[in-house]
Formats: sequence, structure tokens, C-alpha cells
Amino acid sequence: MTETARYQTLLSPLRAGRHELRNRVIMGSMHTRLETAPDGLERQIAFYQERARGEAAIIVTGGFAPNAEGRFDLEGPRLDHAEAARELTPICDAVHQEGSLICAQICHAGRYAKFEGCVAPSPIRAPINRFTPREMTEADIHRTIADFAEAAANAQAAGFDGVEIMGSEGYLINEFTVLHTNHRKDDWGGSAENRHRFPVEIVRAVRERCGPQLLIIYRISVADLVEDGAPAGEIAALARRLEAAGADILNSGIGWHEARVPTIAYPVPRAAWRKATARVKAAVSIPVVASNRINTPEIAEDILASGDADLISMARPLLADPHFARKLREGRADEINPCIACNQACLDFIFSEKTVSCLVNPRAGHETEFRETPSDHPRKIAVVGGGAAGMAAAAEAARLGHRVTLFEASDRLGGQLNLARAAPGKDEFDGTLRYYAGQLKKYGVVLRLGHRAEVEDLTGFDHVVIATGVTPRIPDLPGIDHPKVVTYAEILSGARQAGKSVVVMGAGGIGHDVAEFLAVDPDEARKEEGFFASWGVDSRFETAGALAGDPLAPLPAQRQILMLQRKTAKQGAGLGVSTGWILRNSLRKHGVEGISGVTYERVDDAGLHILVDGALRIIAADTIVLCTGQESERSLAEALASRGIAATMIGGAEEAAELDALRAIDEGVRLAQSF
Ligand code: NAP
Ligand code: SF4
Repeated sequence: MTETARYQTLLSPLRAGRHELRNRVIMGSMHTRLETAPDGLERQIAFYQERARGEAAIIVTGGFAPNAEGRFDLEGPRLDHAEAARELTPICDAVHQEGSLICAQICHAGRYAKFEGCVAPSPIRAPINRFTPREMTEADIHRTIADFAEAAANAQAAGFDGVEIMGSEGYLINEFTVLHTNHRKDDWGGSAENRHRFPVEIVRAVRERCGPQLLIIYRISVADLVEDGAPAGEIAALARRLEAAGADILNSGIGWHEARVPTIAYPVPRAAWRKATARVKAAVSIPVVASNRINTPEIAEDILASGDADLISMARPLLADPHFARKLREGRADEINPCIACNQACLDFIFSEKTVSCLVNPRAGHETEFRETPSDHPRKIAVVGGGAAGMAAAAEAARLGHRVTLFEASDRLGGQLNLARAAPGKDEFDGTLRYYAGQLKKYGVVLRLGHRAEVEDLTGFDHVVIATGVTPRIPDLPGIDHPKVVTYAEILSGARQAGKSVVVMGAGGIGHDVAEFLAVDPDEARKEEGFFASWGVDSRFETAGALAGDPLAPLPAQRQILMLQRKTAKQGAGLGVSTGWILRNSLRKHGVEGISGVTYERVDDAGLHILVDGALRIIAADTIVLCTGQESERSLAEALASRGIAATMIGGAEEAAELDALRAIDEGVRLAQSF
């Protein structure tokens, strides 16, 4: 079977409303913060155009509020003024130039808006917001419906082909549809028909105002994952009402922002929510979009071919690789750089008020900063170290036309990624490793695996890049060489096994990953049924909110685990905003305990001796795992310097503190761009 035949459904066109879609790939809406960046318009044009060049059939923008009270925060972008909307015309033009359609998402934040005066169907504060919303009056409701229609008309006049009306994730419209947040006694609350009136009237008003040409996508919540969320019957009924009101496409939204169930991060199995979408598809005759954790063409094709959905929404996967659809059409599926669902440079950046980017693709959101044309002065470059930083530097330099040799002391590429991939769900890094191995081959990088580069190997190059990475830090402690002490690298690589009772020294990112690796049954972590059962999700998606139990209920652990740190701060405080809570909850569910503010004294046959609040304690563990940070591996750099050979250090070799794949890849790509 040819590559393109393998993905024939995914690559096939589809009629939706008055529009012909070039294939079944939709770029899902994402908050980018580019709108409010100083050079925001230029960056947005480049960002969206790149994804259109990559042949996504429809690009959906980040959310625009239909009015002032619907903004996410006081800076949030809005579409309530025709003139301001027209400033977006160059974005539409750029996308159209590449043959794709573009839709503006209209999202009213409702009770998630982060300011005084936010509104909701009922005055119930969201657990993730400190502001209590004001209950909307009947007049507010009618005005807001009109505001959605006005915003859609503004988008249409600016050149957008359509709009996506955001009806999921716990924003205002979703707050109307479920009993969790709608306690109204008037025509907008009570029965399902009444609770559905607000979204249905919005779709009807948009259609009436904008006519048949405007593509209307409605993002319906197919699994709220909150108590008193919608049961399957109500979701199907809402879908039918939206179709009748004039929606052209139904997109799937999964889980409210306040849900205690992971919905998109790496612990969620791929395509876990497809059956929730399939239920909506069975209820309507308009196209339905599957979403969340669909990051490979194989899984996307399978969803379409099995009839679970008609289109696939990819938001993060098109950050990771904007040319996803184009590569498929060109028979280059193996060149796709897959999203690893880490959330580190997309969601976590957005939550920390940075503009969006991507761990595996530092260009994302920064398209204007990178050049794509080959170098005018090809050079001979040696890269030492085949971890994330070294692979990224070598692949990018070779792509730009330089002659690159990559030295790696071990017999395989990947460095720390080979360890990171062992943590539950982090085997997504395998896709990154495959991608880089393919790129190095494609661009003719000479690979010297199993070869520890010496100074003599590195003469005769125009430039040497040192990406020799890190080694685990061994604390200076009496008895640290005791046989029960192992490093995180030995545990994650499988070189050493842990006993039934374990002490993890160091509660940083790696300490948490190691604890998860040792606590969780791999079947529970990797299999869909195990995931649903452990987070209290109804795998049939029938119950209210698709919940079948307490997402935080205790679970059996593989081992007894205690995590220690010297700081008195809460353990795991430095983990990613959008994934840290998942890890912390998972460890708690598996009975992992922690003590902060400890002083390490020594290790002996009795165990690890520590001081806590001035009192001596002996922890009698079978295994003590060192997750106590890393040291830079710089011996080569020092030897080169003594011989006067200029070299640039990147990644962990340059600075071990807070080294992660995000910084490593970014530094590698940016250095290669500078040659
Ligand atoms: P880290 O997060 O900085 O944690 C290192 C831990 O070692 C700290 O908890 C520190 O805590 C302890 N420590 C440092 N020096 C020590 C010493 N001499 N003796 C005893 N304890 C010592 O680094 P990491 O866990 O090695 O992770 C490396 C990087 O990868 C970090 O940037 C991390 O954020 C990232 N990462 C993130 C994740 C994730 O978010 N899930 C997963 C893996 C890695 P005390 O000093 O308080 O004891
Ligand atoms: Fe995917 Fe991580 Fe990139 Fe976000 S940062 S798009 S989750 S790979």
C-alpha cells in the first residue's frame, strides 16, 4: 500500500456547509497570546500561514470574546468591533493564499473570566477562579446572544470563512447546558430543553445574521467530566438541536478546565475520547470532529475509517509539526514530528503569560525569527553528544546545508530522552527519537555512534558543538556508595531494580517521574480501560458528566514509596502547571508519601538516616533512589579549550540546572540557525 493510500480517508475532501474542505485535518483552536504580543499581527500571520502551508483544511484561531465581560482576562482579545476585527484581515488573506479556510473562535469565558464582574447562568464560583460570577439577567442573555451574532458578522466582514462557537470546556455556553452550573428557574434553566436554549439561540442568531455562506462550527462538550455534567442522552439531544439551528460542523470538547481528570496531557492514552465523539456522530448527519490526544496519522485514519468521526482536530500536533497534512499527501508520514503531549511550551507557557511555542518545535509561535533557506557558507561542523540538544543542533545544521558529523559515546541516540521515556506516558518521546533519527539520515549527518569523541577527532572542523549532557548528581554523604543506593538513571534504564520499599531522594521533576514509574502498574498507566478506571471515568460515556467514580480515589501501589527533599516548600511545586497536578494526584492516589525540610545524615545497612525537625529518623528502605539533580558533563569542553579549539556548549553541558528537553532542543536549533 502506498503512503497516501494508507491515509486515504484522512486525505479525502469533505463538504461542510457551503465549503469544500481539502482534507480531514482541522487545526484546533488554541490560546496563543500572540494577539497581545508587541509584534502580534506579524507573528500571527506567520503562525497561521505556516499551518495553512502545511495544508490543514481549516484553521481555527484562538478564542475571541464576543463582548467585554466574555474576555478571559482584561487583556483578552475580542471581536465586538468591526474595525478591530478588520485588523485580522491580513491573517485571513495569508491563510487563503495557501488554500485553507480560517474560522475565528468566539468564546465567552463565563465564570472562568479572571476579573470582577464576570457572568454566568447562576452565581456559583468556579473552583479555579477567585471571582464569583454575577447571575445573568434575561436582558444579559439576549444581549449576549446578539453579541455572538455581531462578533460572527465582524469576523465574516474581516474575511473569515466561518466561526467556531465555543460550547465546551466549562465556558459560558457550557455553563448553561448543565445542572452543575445552571440553577436557573426561568426559561434558560431546569429542563434540558431550557438549558440548551442559550446555545441553540446563539447558533440560530449567527446563522440568521451571517447567511448560509458562513461556516458554523459548534464545539460541543462530549464529556464534561464534572459532577452533574451532561449525560449521553442530553448531549445527543443538544447535538440534534444545534444541527437544526444551523450548525455545519460539531467539534468535540472534552472536560471542563476545573475537571480533576486529565484530558490532553501525556498520561491520557491516545484517542481515549473517540467513543464520546462517536456518540454525537450517531445523533446527527452533519460532520463531527474528534479531538484530544490524536497525534499520529495512523490513529487519525483509524478514527475516520471506523466511522467514529468525519474530521480530526489537531491543535498541539500542528504546533509540533505544522506540515502534518502536507507530509501525508506527499508520502512523507515518517517525517512528521509528533506532539508528545507534554504541554510544556504550549499550555504551560500560556498559563505563565508567555506566547505559545512547542517543546519539539521551537519555531512554533516564533516563525518570524527563523530562516528556512540554506546557508550561503556551508561549514564543517562536529556535534558531540546525541541527546536532545545534540540531535536538534545536528539535524538543523544539516538541513541548512552544513556538513555535520555527530559523535555519540553510547551505541544509541537520545541521551536523557531514553531515560525520560520510561516514565508512564512519556514513551511519547519515542516519536521524537524516531523523528530526529529520520532527519539526521535525510540530511546526511555522519553518525559516529559508540564513539567517545576525543580532541584528536575534532580538529579540522569549522565549528564544534559540545552537547555532552549531564550525569546524575551524587550527594556527598557517608555511605552513599551503599549497595541499596541507586541513581534515577539506573532505575529508569532498567539497569537496577527497586525493592518493595523505596526512598526517593529529591522531589524535583525526575523524582516525581521515578516515583510514578515505581508506583504505577504499567497496564493501569498505558491501557485505556486502566486510565478510565483510575480517574473515575465512565468508559461508555453514558453517565452524567461521563463520571463513574471519584477521580481522586486511592489506587493499589506497586511499592511503598517515600519522597524526600531538603527544601521546606510543597513537593512538586516546580512541576508544569498543566501536568504537575496530574502527577501529584496520581502519586497521592497510589499512597506515595513525602517529607520536606529533611537533612540527610548518612546511609548504612539500617537505611537512610535523616533529621526532620531536629529529630533523627532512620528510613529502612530496600532501595534509595538518587534524584538529586545533575552535573554538567564538560570534560571534553575543558580539553578542547586547553588546545585552543573553539567550541560552543549547549544543553546540559552548558548548564545542568533546570535542564529539560525544551531548553535542549531550543538551544540546539537556535545555535544551528546562527552558523
Ligand atoms: P530538579 O527539579 O532541580 O530537582 C532536583 C532535586 O534534587 C531537587 O528536589 C533538590 O531538592 C535535590 N537536590 C539538589 N542537589 C542536591 C544535593 N546535593 N543533595 C540532595 N538533594 C539535592 O531537577 P531534576 O529532577 O533532576 O530534573 C531536571 C530538569 O528536568 C528540571 O528542570 C525538571 O523541571 C525537568 N523535569 C521535569 C519533569 C516534570 O515536570 N514532570 C520531569 C522530569 C524532569 P532539595 O535541594 O530541596 O533537596
Ligand atoms: Fe505537544 Fe509538548 Fe509541543 Fe505542546 S509543547 S505542542 S504538548 S510537544
